[in-house]
Amino acid sequence: MRKNIVAGNWKMNNDLVQTASLLNDLQAKEKTSNAEVMVAPTFTNLYLAYETLKTSSIEVIAQNMHFAESGAYTGEISASMLKSVGIKTVILGHSERREYFNETDESLAKKVDTALAHDLRVIFCFGEVLADRKSDNQEAVVESQISNALFHLNADAFKNIVLAYEPVWAIGTGETASPEQAQDMHAFIRKTLATKYGSDVANSVSILYGGSCKPGNAKEIFSKPDVDGGLIGGAALNADDFFAIVNAF
Ligand code: PGA
Repeated sequence: MRKNIVAGNWKMNNDLVQTASLLNDLQAKEKTSNAEVMVAPTFTNLYLAYETLKTSSIEVIAQNMHFAESGAYTGEISASMLKSVGIKTVILGHSERREYFNETDESLAKKVDTALAHDLRVIFCFGEVLADRKSDNQEAVVESQISNALFHLNADAFKNIVLAYEPVWAIGTGETASPEQAQDMHAFIRKTLATKYGSDVANSVSILYGGSCKPGNAKEIFSKPDVDGGLIGGAALNADDFFAIVNAF
């Protein structure tokens, strides 16, 4: 059956020294749950993180990449660069990338294709903004985000796709979707997948929740049948908090 996953997105936090210290703290932690554990440091610290954690059960993943193979894209990072430092999984479509760096469903579809062509697993993020939720439009928004960026793929591609539902109004705000809101949306996402690809594919894809997931609320959110883990921002910057979430399964 599908995997439980807890992934920490460190965003633009931690320099080299701070990263080394957090990696050290993480190595001292004991995992008592069955969840796969991942952390996503910033690009400059990926290699250090990979080298430090390569013999541990924690996978080091990337926060983003460009869709082009190489060339004149100043400031960008390619799939093969990620692979050359040991990375096997990349987060794509985070709401901060969409909001501040103009990522669109169209550019994300290209990024997904490039990542999969390089055998990278993709954690694909999406979610509605507060105005969508207030106008009860969240399902239509999520359906279009998923279908525009992913529904050109064949069913087999979903072996390498993890979905992360992150309502934008809950990211970094301290406001969490209620466990029921998360479950309702995850069930809707799974139904949308089943309609397009059939229930075997729908039931095999892990769907993570993200947005102010903390040690105090993780257990209840993860207990919902269609929630297969979390994408954790703020609480992933502290090893105790992060492992309290990992071990909430
Ligand atoms: P948060 O971030 O846990 O700080 O709300 C989640 C995310 O952006 O993935």
